[in-house]
Amino acid sequence: MRFGSVFAQIGGVEGGVVEGVSVEDGVVVVHARARGRCRSRCGVCGRRSPGYDQGAGRRCWRSLDLGVTRCSIEADASRVGCAEHGVVVGAVPWARHDAGHTRSFDGTVAWLATQTSKSAACTLMRTGWRTVGAIITRVVADGERVGPDRLDGLRRIGIDEISYRVGQRYLTVVVDHDTGRLVWASEGRDKKTVRRFFDLLGVERASRIEAVTSDLAAWITRQVDESCPNATRCIDPFHVVALATDALDVVRREIWNDLRRGGDKQGARFLKGARFCVWKNPENLTERQQVKLANLQKTNKRLYRAYLLKESLRAVFHADTPDNAIGLLDGWLAWARRCRIASFT
Ligand SMILES: [Zn+2]
Repeated sequence: MRFGSVFAQIGGVEGGVVEGVSVEDGVVVVHARARGRCRSRCGVCGRRSPGYDQGAGRRCWRSLDLGVTRCSIEADASRVGCAEHGVVVGAVPWARHDAGHTRSFDGTVAWLATQTSKSAACTLMRTGWRTVGAIITRVVADGERVGPDRLDGLRRIGIDEISYRVGQRYLTVVVDHDTGRLVWASEGRDKKTVRRFFDLLGVERASRIEAVTSDLAAWITRQVDESCPNATRCIDPFHVVALATDALDVVRREIWNDLRRGGDKQGARFLKGARFCVWKNPENLTERQQVKLANLQKTNKRLYRAYLLKESLRAVFHADTPDNAIGLLDGWLAWARRCRIASFT
């Protein structure tokens, strides 16, 4: 490999030719120009355009560090005359228009921003707070321009809320279960917010939605019923199991009250201490809690039965095939119906 192509590779000069390398004030400067096909293109739209002039001086982009040393790419600033955008500085393949950083630098910062805090990204990349914000903005804008509409082809979606700040500030978010991607988010958590998503989606695309998962909140479910006539509404596993845990707690409190009223102080105390072992998933129980649960099985059949009901419902979501899951769920429903524990029935 020739010297120039080695530096094109490690300096992040995608689609460019390296003309020389120098070290200036402790920064490795890679002097480059766009390669054949990439030359003489409009910086805004990328269309091939006739050259206009040499522009003013040289342009400089920060690239990813080479080990511990900073690295920049430098090239001339020649301009082109685009039929649509007029006289603009020509495109370079290694950076976005009007950006002071290379695409690989942008990509690294944008990825970091999804994985760590903004200040961690600033420190690691040795760049300013504002720069990180600007990079995220242009990477996202680019992704939206290039990719197909994120709302196209949605079949199975999930709608949920997340709090984004202390003090009851909420976002409503929509995810695509088939790709695992976030496709929409907006401030607020009410029916109006959900309707805004479906307005954007449009009647045509909404009619092709097959399944929508959410919790049981009426502000979501009512709007889904109105906007997605063909969709099956699904309660996600987390919320189903939470319902069973609530039902179990009703039973525990009933029995505890009975014991107290009957003057069985010891039994009541035992039951109070047992609350964590019936709430927790069995695989997370400590040894002491396991012993407690075994005691419970002997001394309090009703509560233990409620516990088994909760656990069997949880098992539905861990079935190895959909058929097995349906079988387990049918069995569970029949059991819950005749279990004579009101909170489960
Ligand atoms: Zn143009």
